[in-house]
Amino acid sequence: MYLYMYICIYVFSNLGGLTFLLLCNYSIDRIPVALSNFHKQALLAWSLIYKHNFSPTKYFIWNNKDICFKRKSLFLNNWFNNDIILVSQLFNKEGQLFNYQEFVNHFKVPVTPKQFAIVFDAIPTGVVMLYRAYSSPLSAVKIVNDPLDTPVGKLCFDQKNNRKIRSLFQNDCVSVSYVIALWNNIVNDICWVKTWSLPNRYLLTNKVKEISFKIIHRYYPVKTVMVRYKKDIDVTCTLCNMHPETVYHLFWTCESTRSLWQGICRFILDNIHDKFVLCFKDVIFGFTLYEQKFEKEFYLCNLIILLAKFYIHKCKFLNTRPVFCAFKKELELYIKTLSTSSNQKAVKTIMLCSKFELFTEIE
Ligand SMILES: [Zn+2]
Repeated sequence: MYLYMYICIYVFSNLGGLTFLLLCNYSIDRIPVALSNFHKQALLAWSLIYKHNFSPTKYFIWNNKDICFKRKSLFLNNWFNNDIILVSQLFNKEGQLFNYQEFVNHFKVPVTPKQFAIVFDAIPTGVVMLYRAYSSPLSAVKIVNDPLDTPVGKLCFDQKNNRKIRSLFQNDCVSVSYVIALWNNIVNDICWVKTWSLPNRYLLTNKVKEISFKIIHRYYPVKTVMVRYKKDIDVTCTLCNMHPETVYHLFWTCESTRSLWQGICRFILDNIHDKFVLCFKDVIFGFTLYEQKFEKEFYLCNLIILLAKFYIHKCKFLNTRPVFCAFKKELELYIKTLSTSSNQKAVKTIMLCSKFELFTEIE
Protein backbone atom coordinates (compact mmCIF):
# COMPACT_ATOMS: atom_id res chain seq x y z
CA MET A 1 0.00 0.00 0.00
CA TYR A 2 2.79 2.37 0.98
CA LEU A 3 4.61 1.56 -2.24
CA TYR A 4 1.43 2.16 -4.19
CA MET A 5 0.98 5.57 -2.62
CA TYR A 6 4.60 6.35 -3.38
CA ILE A 7 4.19 5.42 -7.05
CA CYS A 8 1.02 7.45 -7.22
CA ILE A 9 2.71 10.58 -5.89
CA TYR A 10 5.67 9.94 -8.18
CA VAL A 11 3.45 9.61 -11.27
CA PHE A 12 1.68 12.88 -10.64
CA SER A 13 4.86 14.74 -9.71
CA ASN A 14 5.95 14.05 -13.31
CA LEU A 15 2.94 16.05 -14.42
CA GLY A 16 3.27 18.98 -12.04
CA GLY A 17 1.56 17.37 -9.08
CA LEU A 18 -2.01 16.20 -8.74
CA THR A 19 -3.37 19.64 -7.85
CA PHE A 20 -1.93 21.15 -11.01
CA LEU A 21 -3.02 18.23 -13.19
CA LEU A 22 -6.61 18.62 -12.04
CA LEU A 23 -6.61 22.17 -13.40
CA CYS A 24 -5.33 21.12 -16.81
CA ASN A 25 -7.33 20.46 -19.94
CA TYR A 26 -5.89 16.94 -20.18
CA SER A 27 -6.90 13.92 -22.18
CA ILE A 28 -6.22 10.57 -20.49
CA ASP A 29 -4.91 8.99 -23.70
CA ARG A 30 -2.41 11.78 -24.29
CA ILE A 31 -0.80 12.04 -20.86
CA PRO A 32 2.84 10.99 -21.35
CA VAL A 33 2.99 8.58 -18.40
CA ALA A 34 1.53 5.11 -17.87
CA LEU A 35 -1.42 5.23 -15.49
CA SER A 36 -3.20 2.41 -13.68
CA ASN A 37 -6.82 1.81 -14.67
CA PHE A 38 -7.87 3.22 -11.31
CA HIS A 39 -6.13 6.53 -11.95
CA LYS A 40 -7.45 6.63 -15.52
CA GLN A 41 -11.00 6.21 -14.25
CA ALA A 42 -10.56 8.83 -11.54
CA LEU A 43 -9.04 11.38 -13.92
CA LEU A 44 -11.66 10.69 -16.56
CA ALA A 45 -14.43 11.25 -14.02
CA TRP A 46 -12.86 14.53 -12.96
CA SER A 47 -12.47 15.75 -16.55
CA LEU A 48 -16.15 15.06 -17.13
CA ILE A 49 -17.38 17.30 -14.32
CA TYR A 50 -14.67 19.94 -14.01
CA LYS A 51 -15.37 22.38 -16.82
CA HIS A 52 -12.31 23.72 -18.65
CA ASN A 53 -13.93 26.74 -20.20
CA PHE A 54 -11.37 28.32 -22.46
CA SER A 55 -9.81 31.46 -21.05
CA PRO A 56 -6.62 33.02 -22.48
CA THR A 57 -5.46 33.86 -18.96
CA LYS A 58 -5.75 30.28 -17.75
CA TYR A 59 -4.63 28.33 -20.79
CA PHE A 60 -1.88 26.00 -19.65
CA ILE A 61 0.93 24.72 -21.83
CA TRP A 62 1.26 21.52 -19.84
CA ASN A 63 -0.99 18.46 -19.88
CA ASN A 64 -3.08 20.24 -22.49
CA LYS A 65 -4.76 17.89 -24.96
CA ASP A 66 -4.57 20.58 -27.67
CA ILE A 67 -0.81 21.07 -27.29
CA CYS A 68 0.86 17.80 -28.25
CA PHE A 69 4.13 16.42 -29.53
CA LYS A 70 3.88 13.00 -31.24
CA ARG A 71 0.26 12.71 -30.05
CA LYS A 72 1.21 13.15 -26.38
CA SER A 73 0.59 16.25 -24.28
CA LEU A 74 3.66 17.98 -22.89
CA PHE A 75 5.19 18.35 -19.49
CA LEU A 76 8.68 19.76 -18.95
CA ASN A 77 9.81 19.92 -15.34
CA ASN A 78 12.50 22.57 -15.77
CA TRP A 79 10.04 24.96 -17.44
CA PHE A 80 7.30 24.26 -14.92
CA ASN A 81 9.63 24.74 -11.94
CA ASN A 82 10.65 28.12 -13.39
CA ASP A 83 7.00 29.21 -13.45
CA ILE A 84 6.55 28.91 -17.20
CA ILE A 85 3.04 27.58 -17.13
CA LEU A 86 0.71 29.60 -19.34
CA VAL A 87 0.59 29.79 -23.12
CA SER A 88 0.31 33.58 -22.80
CA GLN A 89 3.84 33.63 -21.33
CA LEU A 90 5.22 32.45 -24.68
CA PHE A 91 4.29 35.71 -26.45
CA ASN A 92 6.29 38.92 -26.59
CA LYS A 93 4.91 42.47 -26.16
CA GLU A 94 3.92 42.63 -29.84
CA GLY A 95 1.75 39.55 -29.50
CA GLN A 96 4.24 37.38 -31.44
CA LEU A 97 5.66 34.07 -30.23
CA PHE A 98 9.15 34.51 -28.77
CA ASN A 99 12.06 33.34 -30.87
CA TYR A 100 14.66 31.20 -29.13
CA GLN A 101 17.02 34.06 -28.26
CA GLU A 102 14.24 36.31 -26.96
CA PHE A 103 12.91 33.46 -24.87
CA VAL A 104 16.23 32.66 -23.21
CA ASN A 105 16.88 36.35 -22.53
CA HIS A 106 13.42 36.87 -21.10
CA PHE A 107 13.21 33.88 -18.77
CA LYS A 108 16.90 33.32 -18.17
CA VAL A 109 16.26 29.60 -18.05
CA PRO A 110 18.61 27.13 -19.74
CA VAL A 111 16.46 25.52 -22.41
CA THR A 112 17.79 23.48 -25.32
CA PRO A 113 16.79 24.52 -28.86
CA LYS A 114 15.19 21.10 -29.24
CA GLN A 115 12.92 21.57 -26.19
CA PHE A 116 12.10 25.08 -27.41
CA ALA A 117 11.12 23.76 -30.84
CA ILE A 118 8.97 20.98 -29.38
CA VAL A 119 6.93 23.37 -27.22
CA PHE A 120 6.61 26.24 -29.68
CA ASP A 121 5.75 24.02 -32.64
CA ALA A 122 3.04 22.36 -30.58
CA ILE A 123 1.08 25.58 -30.03
CA PRO A 124 -1.90 25.36 -32.42
CA THR A 125 -2.12 28.04 -35.13
CA GLY A 126 -5.59 29.07 -33.97
CA VAL A 127 -4.25 29.82 -30.50
CA VAL A 128 -1.37 31.86 -31.95
CA MET A 129 -3.86 33.94 -33.95
CA LEU A 130 -5.99 34.47 -30.86
CA TYR A 131 -3.12 35.76 -28.71
CA ARG A 132 -1.98 38.01 -31.56
CA ALA A 133 -5.26 39.87 -31.13
CA TYR A 134 -4.28 40.87 -27.59
CA SER A 135 -2.37 44.16 -27.83
CA SER A 136 -1.17 44.03 -24.23
CA PRO A 137 0.46 40.69 -23.58
CA LEU A 138 -0.84 38.54 -20.77
CA SER A 139 2.61 37.24 -19.86
CA ALA A 140 3.69 37.13 -16.26
CA VAL A 141 0.06 36.91 -15.20
CA LYS A 142 -0.01 33.62 -13.41
CA ILE A 143 -3.32 32.48 -12.10
CA VAL A 144 -3.33 29.06 -10.56
CA ASN A 145 -6.28 28.41 -8.29
CA ASP A 146 -6.50 25.35 -6.16
CA PRO A 147 -9.08 23.14 -7.90
CA LEU A 148 -10.07 21.77 -4.52
CA ASP A 149 -11.39 25.20 -3.59
CA THR A 150 -13.84 25.29 -6.49
CA PRO A 151 -17.47 24.23 -5.81
CA VAL A 152 -16.96 21.03 -7.83
CA GLY A 153 -13.68 20.29 -6.03
CA LYS A 154 -15.22 20.77 -2.60
CA LEU A 155 -18.00 18.33 -3.49
CA CYS A 156 -15.74 15.69 -5.01
CA PHE A 157 -13.14 15.58 -2.28
CA ASP A 158 -15.63 15.42 0.55
CA GLN A 159 -16.19 11.70 0.80
CA LYS A 160 -19.62 11.98 2.37
CA ASN A 161 -21.08 13.49 -0.74
CA ASN A 162 -21.39 10.55 -3.14
CA ARG A 163 -25.01 11.37 -3.93
CA LYS A 164 -24.16 14.97 -4.82
CA ILE A 165 -21.23 13.86 -7.00
CA ARG A 166 -23.62 11.57 -8.85
CA SER A 167 -26.01 14.45 -9.44
CA LEU A 168 -23.15 16.48 -10.98
CA PHE A 169 -22.88 13.83 -13.68
CA GLN A 170 -26.61 13.49 -14.11
CA ASN A 171 -27.09 17.23 -14.66
CA ASP A 172 -25.26 16.81 -17.94
CA CYS A 173 -27.11 13.68 -18.98
CA VAL A 174 -30.60 15.09 -19.35
CA SER A 175 -31.97 14.20 -22.75
CA VAL A 176 -35.31 15.32 -24.09
CA SER A 177 -37.55 12.66 -25.53
CA TYR A 178 -37.90 12.90 -29.32
CA VAL A 179 -41.67 12.57 -29.01
CA ILE A 180 -41.99 15.94 -27.26
CA ALA A 181 -41.22 17.86 -30.45
CA LEU A 182 -43.47 15.55 -32.48
CA TRP A 183 -46.49 16.05 -30.23
CA ASN A 184 -45.88 19.77 -29.69
CA ASN A 185 -46.41 20.23 -33.44
CA ILE A 186 -49.85 18.66 -33.21
CA VAL A 187 -51.16 19.43 -29.73
CA ASN A 188 -50.87 22.67 -27.74
CA ASP A 189 -50.49 23.04 -24.00
CA ILE A 190 -49.07 19.74 -22.86
CA CYS A 191 -47.51 19.89 -19.42
CA TRP A 192 -44.83 17.27 -20.01
CA VAL A 193 -43.54 17.12 -16.45
CA LYS A 194 -47.00 16.16 -15.25
CA THR A 195 -47.61 13.85 -18.20
CA TRP A 196 -44.48 11.79 -17.45
CA SER A 197 -45.16 11.57 -13.72
CA LEU A 198 -48.90 10.98 -13.97
CA PRO A 199 -48.97 7.13 -13.92
CA ASN A 200 -46.64 7.14 -10.91
CA ARG A 201 -49.17 8.95 -8.77
CA TYR A 202 -51.19 5.74 -8.51
CA LEU A 203 -50.57 2.23 -7.28
CA LEU A 204 -50.65 0.56 -10.70
CA THR A 205 -48.78 -2.33 -12.24
CA ASN A 206 -46.29 -1.57 -14.98
CA LYS A 207 -48.57 -3.37 -17.43
CA VAL A 208 -51.09 -0.54 -17.00
CA LYS A 209 -48.51 2.25 -17.06
CA GLU A 210 -46.78 1.02 -20.20
CA ILE A 211 -49.88 1.38 -22.37
CA SER A 212 -49.77 5.18 -22.01
CA PHE A 213 -46.01 5.15 -22.39
CA LYS A 214 -46.21 3.21 -25.65
CA ILE A 215 -49.01 5.35 -27.05
CA ILE A 216 -47.12 8.58 -26.30
CA HIS A 217 -43.92 7.14 -27.78
CA ARG A 218 -45.88 5.98 -30.83
CA TYR A 219 -44.99 2.35 -30.63
CA TYR A 220 -48.17 0.89 -29.23
CA PRO A 221 -48.60 -2.28 -31.35
CA VAL A 222 -51.72 -1.44 -33.34
CA LYS A 223 -51.86 -3.26 -36.65
CA THR A 224 -50.89 -0.19 -38.71
CA VAL A 225 -47.66 -0.06 -36.68
CA MET A 226 -47.03 -3.81 -36.84
CA VAL A 227 -47.36 -3.85 -40.63
CA ARG A 228 -44.02 -2.05 -40.76
CA TYR A 229 -42.42 -5.24 -39.48
CA LYS A 230 -44.54 -7.81 -41.33
CA LYS A 231 -45.96 -6.70 -44.63
CA ASP A 232 -48.82 -9.23 -44.95
CA ILE A 233 -50.66 -8.31 -41.71
CA ASP A 234 -54.35 -7.57 -42.14
CA VAL A 235 -54.66 -4.06 -40.71
CA THR A 236 -58.41 -3.96 -40.03
CA CYS A 237 -59.41 -3.18 -36.47
CA THR A 238 -59.57 -6.15 -34.10
CA LEU A 239 -62.66 -4.76 -32.39
CA CYS A 240 -64.91 -3.73 -35.30
CA ASN A 241 -63.31 -5.45 -38.31
CA MET A 242 -64.12 -2.42 -40.44
CA HIS A 243 -61.54 0.38 -40.27
CA PRO A 244 -57.74 0.37 -40.31
CA GLU A 245 -56.47 -0.15 -36.75
CA THR A 246 -54.63 3.04 -35.77
CA VAL A 247 -54.14 4.29 -32.21
CA TYR A 248 -56.66 7.05 -32.91
CA HIS A 249 -59.21 4.54 -34.15
CA LEU A 250 -58.64 1.83 -31.53
CA PHE A 251 -58.59 4.14 -28.51
CA TRP A 252 -61.08 6.76 -29.69
CA THR A 253 -63.22 6.45 -32.81
CA CYS A 254 -63.93 2.71 -32.97
CA GLU A 255 -67.61 2.17 -32.33
CA SER A 256 -67.27 0.04 -29.21
CA THR A 257 -64.48 2.21 -27.76
CA ARG A 258 -66.66 5.26 -28.30
CA SER A 259 -69.51 3.77 -26.36
CA LEU A 260 -67.07 2.80 -23.60
CA TRP A 261 -65.87 6.42 -23.29
CA GLN A 262 -69.47 7.63 -23.36
CA GLY A 263 -70.25 5.33 -20.45
CA ILE A 264 -67.16 6.57 -18.60
CA CYS A 265 -68.08 10.22 -19.20
CA ARG A 266 -71.60 9.63 -17.90
CA PHE A 267 -70.18 7.88 -14.83
CA ILE A 268 -67.77 10.77 -14.14
CA LEU A 269 -70.46 13.43 -14.75
CA ASP A 270 -72.83 11.64 -12.34
CA ASN A 271 -70.33 10.83 -9.62
CA ILE A 272 -67.17 12.92 -9.74
CA HIS A 273 -67.19 16.12 -11.79
CA ASP A 274 -70.35 17.60 -13.32
CA LYS A 275 -68.47 19.71 -15.90
CA PHE A 276 -66.38 16.90 -17.29
CA VAL A 277 -65.50 16.91 -21.00
CA LEU A 278 -63.19 14.35 -22.59
CA CYS A 279 -61.06 14.82 -25.73
CA PHE A 280 -58.72 12.37 -27.47
CA LYS A 281 -55.77 14.49 -26.27
CA ASP A 282 -56.82 13.81 -22.65
CA VAL A 283 -57.00 10.08 -23.40
CA ILE A 284 -53.40 10.12 -24.61
CA PHE A 285 -51.80 12.44 -22.07
CA GLY A 286 -54.26 12.55 -19.19
CA PHE A 287 -55.51 15.83 -17.72
CA THR A 288 -52.55 17.98 -16.67
CA LEU A 289 -53.92 21.52 -16.89
CA TYR A 290 -56.94 22.15 -14.70
CA GLU A 291 -58.09 24.50 -11.95
CA GLN A 292 -56.41 23.69 -8.67
CA LYS A 293 -59.75 23.40 -6.89
CA PHE A 294 -60.57 20.37 -9.03
CA GLU A 295 -57.36 18.54 -8.09
CA LYS A 296 -59.21 15.69 -6.36
CA GLU A 297 -61.71 15.27 -9.20
CA PHE A 298 -59.00 15.06 -11.87
CA TYR A 299 -56.91 12.73 -9.73
CA LEU A 300 -59.72 10.18 -10.06
CA CYS A 301 -60.51 11.02 -13.71
CA ASN A 302 -56.88 10.42 -14.71
CA LEU A 303 -56.86 7.11 -12.87
CA ILE A 304 -60.01 5.99 -14.69
CA ILE A 305 -58.51 7.01 -18.06
CA LEU A 306 -55.33 5.03 -17.36
CA LEU A 307 -57.32 1.94 -16.41
CA ALA A 308 -59.66 2.37 -19.39
CA LYS A 309 -56.73 2.41 -21.83
CA PHE A 310 -55.47 -0.81 -20.26
CA TYR A 311 -58.96 -2.28 -20.53
CA ILE A 312 -59.18 -1.42 -24.26
CA HIS A 313 -55.73 -2.96 -24.72
CA LYS A 314 -56.87 -6.17 -23.02
CA CYS A 315 -60.03 -6.31 -25.15
CA LYS A 316 -57.91 -6.03 -28.28
CA PHE A 317 -55.74 -8.97 -27.28
CA LEU A 318 -58.63 -11.07 -25.93
CA ASN A 319 -60.62 -10.27 -29.07
CA THR A 320 -63.64 -9.04 -27.11
CA ARG A 321 -65.56 -5.78 -27.39
CA PRO A 322 -65.10 -3.15 -24.70
CA VAL A 323 -68.29 -2.72 -22.69
CA PHE A 324 -68.72 -0.07 -20.02
CA CYS A 325 -70.37 -2.29 -17.39
CA ALA A 326 -67.54 -4.82 -17.65
CA PHE A 327 -65.01 -2.00 -17.27
CA LYS A 328 -66.90 -0.66 -14.26
CA LYS A 329 -66.69 -4.11 -12.68
CA GLU A 330 -62.91 -4.11 -13.21
CA LEU A 331 -62.63 -0.65 -11.73
CA GLU A 332 -64.59 -1.80 -8.71
CA LEU A 333 -62.33 -4.82 -8.29
CA TYR A 334 -59.24 -2.64 -8.53
CA ILE A 335 -60.54 -0.28 -5.84
CA LYS A 336 -61.42 -3.26 -3.66
CA THR A 337 -57.85 -4.60 -4.00
CA LEU A 338 -56.44 -1.20 -3.06
CA SER A 339 -58.49 -1.02 0.12
CA THR A 340 -56.34 -3.78 1.65
CA SER A 341 -53.09 -1.90 0.94
CA SER A 342 -51.33 0.49 3.28
CA ASN A 343 -49.37 2.05 0.40
CA GLN A 344 -49.66 5.85 0.47
CA LYS A 345 -50.89 6.09 -3.11
CA ALA A 346 -53.50 3.41 -2.47
CA VAL A 347 -54.63 5.14 0.72
CA LYS A 348 -55.06 8.42 -1.17
CA THR A 349 -57.09 6.75 -3.92
CA ILE A 350 -59.33 4.97 -1.39
CA MET A 351 -59.82 8.18 0.56
CA LEU A 352 -60.95 10.05 -2.55
CA CYS A 353 -63.21 7.20 -3.63
CA SER A 354 -65.03 7.37 -0.33
CA LYS A 355 -65.21 11.16 -0.56
CA PHE A 356 -67.04 10.81 -3.89
CA GLU A 357 -68.90 7.73 -2.63
CA LEU A 358 -67.55 5.54 -5.43
CA PHE A 359 -68.03 1.82 -4.92
CA THR A 360 -68.76 2.38 -1.26
CA GLU A 361 -71.36 -0.38 -1.35
CA ILE A 362 -68.52 -2.95 -1.66
CA GLU A 363 -67.94 -3.39 2.07
ZN1 LIG B 1 -62.60 -0.49 -34.81
